[in-house]
Amino acid sequence: MKTRTIAFAGNPNAGKTTLFNTITGSRQHVGNYPGITVERKEGSVDVGDVRLNIIDLPGCYSLTAYTQEELVARQVLVEERPDLVVNVVDATRLERHLYLTVQFLELGIPVILALNMMDDVRNKGMSIDIAALAKALDSDAVATVARGGEGKKELLEQIVATSASRSGDWQPLVISYGPDIDPVLEQMIDIIEKQQFLTARYPARWIAIKYLEGDEDLRRQGQCDAETSARLDQLVQRLHDHCLKTLNSFPEAIIADYRYGFIHSVLRDGVVTEREHDARLDMSDNLDKVLTHKVVGPLLLFALLYLMFQITFTLGDYPMQLMQVLFNWLADTASGIIPPGYMQSLVVSGIIDGVGGVLSFVPLIMLMFIMISFLEDSGYMARVAYMMDKVFRMFGLHGSSVMPFIISGGIAGGCAVPGVMAARTLRSPREKLATILTAPFMPCGAKIPVFLLLISAFFTEHRAFIMFAITLTAWVMALLVARLLRSTIIRGESTPFVMELPPYRWPTLQGIMIHTWERTWEYIRKAGTVILAISMLLWAAMTFPALPQAQQQHYQHRRAALQQQVAACSDDLCRATKADMLRSLEQDHNATALRYSAAGRLGIMLEPLSKLAGFGWRTNIALIGGVAAKEVIVSTLGTAYSLGEIDSEESSPLAERIQQDPEWNRASAVSAIIFILLYAPCFVTLVVMSREASWGWAMFALVFNSAIAFLLASIVYQIGSMV
Ligand code: GDP
Ligand code: MG
Repeated sequence: MKTRTIAFAGNPNAGKTTLFNTITGSRQHVGNYPGITVERKEGSVDVGDVRLNIIDLPGCYSLTAYTQEELVARQVLVEERPDLVVNVVDATRLERHLYLTVQFLELGIPVILALNMMDDVRNKGMSIDIAALAKALDSDAVATVARGGEGKKELLEQIVATSASRSGDWQPLVISYGPDIDPVLEQMIDIIEKQQFLTARYPARWIAIKYLEGDEDLRRQGQCDAETSARLDQLVQRLHDHCLKTLNSFPEAIIADYRYGFIHSVLRDGVVTEREHDARLDMSDNLDKVLTHKVVGPLLLFALLYLMFQITFTLGDYPMQLMQVLFNWLADTASGIIPPGYMQSLVVSGIIDGVGGVLSFVPLIMLMFIMISFLEDSGYMARVAYMMDKVFRMFGLHGSSVMPFIISGGIAGGCAVPGVMAARTLRSPREKLATILTAPFMPCGAKIPVFLLLISAFFTEHRAFIMFAITLTAWVMALLVARLLRSTIIRGESTPFVMELPPYRWPTLQGIMIHTWERTWEYIRKAGTVILAISMLLWAAMTFPALPQAQQQHYQHRRAALQQQVAACSDDLCRATKADMLRSLEQDHNATALRYSAAGRLGIMLEPLSKLAGFGWRTNIALIGGVAAKEVIVSTLGTAYSLGEIDSEESSPLAERIQQDPEWNRASAVSAIIFILLYAPCFVTLVVMSREASWGWAMFALVFNSAIAFLLASIVYQIGSMV
């Protein structure tokens, strides 16, 4: 069987993934390109005796390495040398989409145009002369409707035919860039060919054009022959100055103009005819008049988001409770099978609780992603980014940073794990990084029980107001810190907002399901492996060193004595009292052991410092535990305050205990709320951050966020104690 490698490429929203899914069906898998977070999707299909291995390249608008996606797309083409590119274009917007096509043609790789969305073309009353278009571009073209599977067979046949006839032969297209640029290009090509500068990988003309376009990646590669690279740079610089003087423009801009000019000329001569407007077809534009209206747009946006959260959290509650029941059952069963001791404690408290904590988020994450996929596929997400862009730009972020913030808890109750993952839609690495680093400030669902606990202990009357103030603080801090980061360590140009508004569409169920499942599975895989190790570590820190023999025996004796007394009881009242005593003995034992453990000692050791913010050693242990998972804060406080089952309802016993504890007061409560809101992201988030950025940045977030949190908490506490 012959095999061919085919790359699917196209602008975002051209329908590339839909086409890829219809063609490969279930025969596909997702991975990552080494070292970066861009997804690599591959699949295969057999056509007669030919096997087509298909790579779904990341969506991109150009082949200049301005973004990771563009860089990856280009690297796959030159390094893996696929037999041909299937360039998926939205046929209703040929003018824009052919911009990328032209760059494939300039690179020379064989191209088949998949003219997708032909259903929309017909509905709009447009018509496209496909044969004429193919001839003008000297490539093959096929009409498709990816959503309905139309044209799939023709496309596959065309792939087989073209890959056989062109057999991987690259024939670069030559476009004229006008009287100013062309002569310089020729000069550069001359040098490049003489020195054989990178010509093993790229056509000479292409290298010259990319140098003119200011392509950083190619310059980096060019360092292997720094002298030639410098000569080219000199020519580029001279042309740059010349263009600025004579045309008041830059070479990149002129190149883009000529490319569009070329496309224009291709599309003329009856290739595309647009009949007069059909009112129905401008539905998208009409919808946008309302949905992106200055005032109505944002209002509708907030209403929609509110609804989305309501749905997620009401629906998500049931499966989440189910998961908890399941894990409780597992814990009980394990306790039944394994005899009491370290082994039981490790399996139950270390492994089952830790992994259960991670997996219990899965239903929530799935629901959230179903809705986000819907918003994305329908085209609404692009509008959200578009509306918020102006505001976010002031803080060095991007319109697309809105979603990660909201998902992380921008409307109280999200989760930073999917939030950080959602930052993937950001195309600029700097803005993405700033978003990832600040999204964990948001009040996620796991922080809320702690807030409720402290509020009910000290501010019962102002509950709603304080929750609102917390959320507001989170947003203000996220934006301010983003501004700070973007003006210091992640300084650099903002990406211009190039995203166009795609027309609205009904998303397909298959598309949403695949998107959702991919992201959920990624969460399980990423979080699942590391959290297991971390929860075992945390367990060990809170268990060892164990109490000295003598003390343990003391507890054992008292327990045995009490048990005997229970057995000797004659009435229920006596039994109940003794049982209570037994429980409180158990709690006393736990608290003493915790104090003696490594975590306990660390908590005590940190007390002199943490006193600045008003935290005692028990709070310290809870906060350290909270780095593993914020849910742990309440339960650890519970253990540390010698209490059993904790619930964070109003006037719960723990709230009372805290209220009575001299270590706590209103000032330390506010300080704790601020600290918990802002300090280190939880471990699962850190792991996801490390994948999306790097371990270095994850560690930075751990230290930097904690430092900011501590600073603010201390200031608030000191001022609060004075008042
Ligand atoms: P990608 O960004 O290029 O991977 O685009 P997707 O495959 O995610 O498709 C973007 C949107 O266009 C989705 O909502 C698809 O359902 C829709 N879509 C894809 N192909 C067609 C088509 O041929 N006709 C119509 N009307 N919609 C399509
Ligand atoms: Mg896609």
